Amino acid sequence: MNYENLFSQNLETNLKGRYITLNDIEPLLLKFNSDNQVQIIGTSVLGKPIYKYELGTGNTRVLMWSQMHGNESTTTKALFDFLNLLNSNSELANKLLNEFTFCCLPMLNPDGALLYTRENANNIDLNRDAQNLSQPESKLLRTTFDTFEPDYCYNLHDQRTIYGVGSEIIKPATVSFLAPAYNENRGINKVRTKAIKVIVAMNKILQDFIPNQVGRFDDTFNINCVGDTFQYLNVPTILIEAGHFQEDYERELTRKFVFIALVEGLKKINENDIVSKEIEDYMNIPHNKICFYDFIYKNIKISYDNNKIITNFALQFKEELIDKQLFFNVYTAAIGNLEGFSGHFEFDVEEALYEDLELNIPKIDQKAAFSLGNSIKFVNGVIEN
Ligand SMILES: [Zn+2]
Repeated sequence: MNYENLFSQNLETNLKGRYITLNDIEPLLLKFNSDNQVQIIGTSVLGKPIYKYELGTGNTRVLMWSQMHGNESTTTKALFDFLNLLNSNSELANKLLNEFTFCCLPMLNPDGALLYTRENANNIDLNRDAQNLSQPESKLLRTTFDTFEPDYCYNLHDQRTIYGVGSEIIKPATVSFLAPAYNENRGINKVRTKAIKVIVAMNKILQDFIPNQVGRFDDTFNINCVGDTFQYLNVPTILIEAGHFQEDYERELTRKFVFIALVEGLKKINENDIVSKEIEDYMNIPHNKICFYDFIYKNIKISYDNNKIITNFALQFKEELIDKQLFFNVYTAAIGNLEGFSGHFEFDVEEALYEDLELNIPKIDQKAAFSLGNSIKFVNGVIEN
């Protein structure tokens, strides 16, 4: 299968960048709604509609939800690329629709999406509300789970740029997976094995596109998380975290890798093969670890109180919503030796003097505006010409 072609044929060009709200997806859902396949299942805290899109006639029932964390939009983009594929009337589309029935909730947290926050409008993390079901959005997901009776669940998220994989050579964790545990012992039963099998297939294909950039999330059991609860309720659940690819802060490449993983995983679900090796393959996917900053400047010189020191400092983007536009603003995140950390951008400034408009010492959480040496000026973390 030529996945590059498949992706470009089905790319949803109306969804771009990181700030994806209900306004962006409603026209697309309307276009799909030829025969009442798209329904409003309820409303968010602030009264925004939450949509469900069901399609396919197959025996294997798959429930997918995205943007339960409002600022995690990459998998929403990938989900719409995938929905375009399912609506393409191609041989592959018809095969998938014959084999599966899909139930998609493409934006579970529309209030958080609009505010560009992880939490919903009551400041509740919906992915810690699986037992309390205190929020309307959590209740709707659970009701959909109970009535649709899925054979598989796909829990779709984004992760921050801080995650990496590898030991000697550290790469960004562009896509990470988890087959959540179903109990404290983190045992592997038949249900969890089914999720693992899908993840192994996804990882295998992704290694062709992003070698050594796939991670595996920590599987500490937390029954308050939706994936853990669904796995505990005996439905194989796959967590997908879309992460950073080199220089792709808009995550337009990562969406492609998620799309590829979705298609390949589904192709493998109903294949009967031996699974013992797959548990081993799953365990061999390297752990995600926190080991990246967006920018690292090495060997800066700081001069204060007649002392001079040579040190390093790191900056991290914060995504800030200002007047309905998303900005990537850079703040100081760490100062010091920074061992064990890499930068997505790294500069050795060879003892150039750090100066800013205040004390000439980098301060944690200070917005980055400084100069290094006589000639280099940094605005928002990058060299200004
Ligand atoms: Zn998330």
